[in-house]
Amino acid sequence: MSECPVCDAEVEIAGDAVIGELLSCEDCGMELEILKLDPVELAEAPTAEEDWGQ
Ligand SMILES: [Zn+2]
Repeated sequence: MSECPVCDAEVEIAGDAVIGELLSCEDCGMELEILKLDPVELAEAPTAEEDWGQ
């Protein structure tokens, strides 16, 4: 378990999670990226939607 950096809800981290893995907070729905393991550190995943360059 770790904490959502956005809403502080507990977020379950899979036992085989890897750095860079994306998951979403069930509470606020934010996409989160695993920055570090042991201890787990989460950050909001970058929303690339506006970066697809048109
Ligand atoms: Zn959250």
